[in-house]
Amino acid sequence: MSRILSAIQPSGTLTIGNYLGALKNFVELQDEHDCLFFIVDQHAITVPQDRLELRKRIKELTALYLACGLDPNKATIFIQSEVPGHTQLAWMLTCNTSMGELERMTQYKDKVQKQTAKGQGISAGLFMYPVLMAADILLYDVDFVPVGDDQKQHVELTRDLAERFNNRFGETFKVPEVWIPKRGARVMSLQEPTKKMSKSDDNPRNFVLMTDEPNVIRKKIKSAVTDSDGVIAYDRQNKPGISNLLDIYSAFTSESIESLVARYEGCGYGQFKSDLAEIVVAELEPIQQRMKELLKSNVIDEVLDAGAKRANQLAFKKVKKVEHKMGLGRKK
Ligand code: ATP
Ligand code: MG
Repeated sequence: MSRILSAIQPSGTLTIGNYLGALKNFVELQDEHDCLFFIVDQHAITVPQDRLELRKRIKELTALYLACGLDPNKATIFIQSEVPGHTQLAWMLTCNTSMGELERMTQYKDKVQKQTAKGQGISAGLFMYPVLMAADILLYDVDFVPVGDDQKQHVELTRDLAERFNNRFGETFKVPEVWIPKRGARVMSLQEPTKKMSKSDDNPRNFVLMTDEPNVIRKKIKSAVTDSDGVIAYDRQNKPGISNLLDIYSAFTSESIESLVARYEGCGYGQFKSDLAEIVVAELEPIQQRMKELLKSNVIDEVLDAGAKRANQLAFKKVKKVEHKMGLGRKK
């Protein structure tokens, strides 16, 4: 059985971008693969976080994983900081990574711009982010990493680091493949559709949250930026707004873009948006309901305890192997 791994940062409440690019696919993959899905709180602190908010979001994200259908009997669900192997391996990989490789990462460049615009400093952690992510993956000998399009470059770096380490120190890591969904791999911002939708965006009109009330969802989708020619057609370059909404529609329903364009021919944006809003509400409402119930129960702690136990067993072995290869500690 092949092994799959993916994670989400508790850096904000999840958006429909995270859902379509990541979470929704996790649920489909868990039946056929050995899956590890976790919450990367150590990645979240690469930018400043409020401690109480962060703790709250970690629990909410676990509840959301379960509410969307992740089954702890099929998948291992845990918190990154509860498995120390992640940072231990990250340091060993850091010493085998060049500054130049990290400077080329587009997410780093984007986030530097964002932090600078807010007047905030850039932490060394933000620069090191991709190495910690490589450690997250390489600890577990995974075959595939399902992620949204924006994380492709980081998985490619992970592959480079694994190959380099294997060449230098002998076979140690499995080299993982990236797995990008066919639909919803890059959901764009609703108000600035040339920019990726992100949960850490400061403007709430740019995203739909998984926890937004039905009327808020309707309002945000109805006020999404489109264009003035009023024709429903797919053209990412010249009509990024309506193209993004077509992508979202297609990812929620699995109906192809061609079929949607044909079906909505001659129809105004208003009708299209209002249909889309109802589709999103219908999918999210039951998830929100389950999430609320889970947050009141003890299930979350039980799931996270069991997940951390299994992840620690796997991670410990790999850390010891890498230390041995690099000559750290003593021979026992
Ligand atoms: P942040 O702004 O804090 O980086 P984010 O919304 O980018 O938050 P991450 O936790 O960095 O979310 O990423 C979690 C998963 O969601 C990753 O697999 C990532 O590729 C995917 N993802 C993030 N944004 C989008 C998007 N706009 N469309 C599709 N997938 C996305
Ligand atoms: Mg991100």
